[in-house]
Amino acid sequence: MALLGAIADDFTGATDLASMLVAHGMRSVQLIGTPPAAFPPPEADALVIALKTRTAPLEEAVAESLRALAYLKAQGVRQVFFKYCSTFDSTDRGNIGPVADALLAALGASFALACPAFPANRRTLYLGHLFVGEALLNESGMENHPLTPMRDPNLVRVLSRQTTGRVGLVPYGVVREGAASIRAAFARLAAEGYRYAIVDAIEEAHLMAIGEAAADHPLITGGSGVAMGLPANFRRQGLLPPRLDAEALPAIEGANAVIAGSCSRATLGQIAEAEREGLPVLRLDPLHFPSAEAMAEAALAWARPLLGARPVVIAASAPPDQVRAVQARLGTEAASALIEEALARTAEGLVAQGARRLVVAGGETSGAVVARLGVQALRIGPAIDPGVPWTAASGRGPELLLALKSGNFGAPDFFRKAFALLDAQRPA
Ligand code: ADP
Repeated sequence: MALLGAIADDFTGATDLASMLVAHGMRSVQLIGTPPAAFPPPEADALVIALKTRTAPLEEAVAESLRALAYLKAQGVRQVFFKYCSTFDSTDRGNIGPVADALLAALGASFALACPAFPANRRTLYLGHLFVGEALLNESGMENHPLTPMRDPNLVRVLSRQTTGRVGLVPYGVVREGAASIRAAFARLAAEGYRYAIVDAIEEAHLMAIGEAAADHPLITGGSGVAMGLPANFRRQGLLPPRLDAEALPAIEGANAVIAGSCSRATLGQIAEAEREGLPVLRLDPLHFPSAEAMAEAALAWARPLLGARPVVIAASAPPDQVRAVQARLGTEAASALIEEALARTAEGLVAQGARRLVVAGGETSGAVVARLGVQALRIGPAIDPGVPWTAASGRGPELLLALKSGNFGAPDFFRKAFALLDAQRPA
């Protein structure tokens, strides 16, 4: 039975959290949305439900999160984690505060910590102020985010605007003293009627101590960083055996392919690198095709004779000037929808042709592919680069290995590294 149940407010955030838990010895499965009650419970120490509630209408975000919580409670999890972005992406209305309020109430609890810090990704929190690298949150570029502009770096104030509860602070001076002091500070704040504690953290050691201090909290809220201290709690309680194989995936043989819909700089560089390495690369120009079906058909006809151990790369990705030209002709949303559908159909066709190991580049593109393939659960495996693990996907179709890459993630040789990692793990 799973020990930890998590609810993530977006897809890549869910993967990020699950990857963190795997790295610290918990077998983790990411579920795409809340499964029906009859869904056979995956064999895992942690279940992470990926929702899309970060910018959803408030009532919908709360309802979806409560549905996820009900599923996790039915699985018997001992602790619930509400995962949001390490830049606390939200508006003054929410959704972080209202969702946390609803989860606390449904758990019959009255206090939770809130800590988005993630020092490895240069998100640190000092006296309640969130820094991205050297910059305060509101000077980090996040103040211009189209959906969740962050114009106040003080998270005590930010969260206060989103909840009817009182928000306090566990400051750095307490955090650096370790778990016992943090636990005492939590108890004090809870006794004084505070509902939340923003908790400072600058180094990983702080996150480990915060996690330890929250061992008996029904709900923890934060970024994936603060989850790193939780597996040790379960081990201390004798509930989680030491695992050397938390990231083990089933061996799945079949053809290798890359599908790229991201136009981010990192992905463009990875495609160029694949070309330099001599991999077959097809660049799809959306303006050449009358429909998504036609684009997918052309891609599949090209790939058919090439499919095998050497990965084929199918990319709609293009540099900014070409993207602008396509958007000017088709409209921005229509262009995205057309290309996402074409690439999702291509993925489906590749699987029908025997592809079983797929790298997908692009967040939205990955969402479209996963939906088209009917994937319900992803068992999280080893990380190829930070934040991008191989996963074993199960659902409607055959079992697959999928690496779903957010556009800007990964080193230039990411594609080669991804397949090399699978080959290295194959039992001799
Ligand atoms: P990222 O993770 O880099 O943001 P996404 O897949 O989330 O990548 O978003 C990229 C978007 O750009 C998708 O909607 C995709 O369909 C679209 N796109 C891909 N290629 C092109 C292109 N050549 N012209 C216009 N839009 C494109």
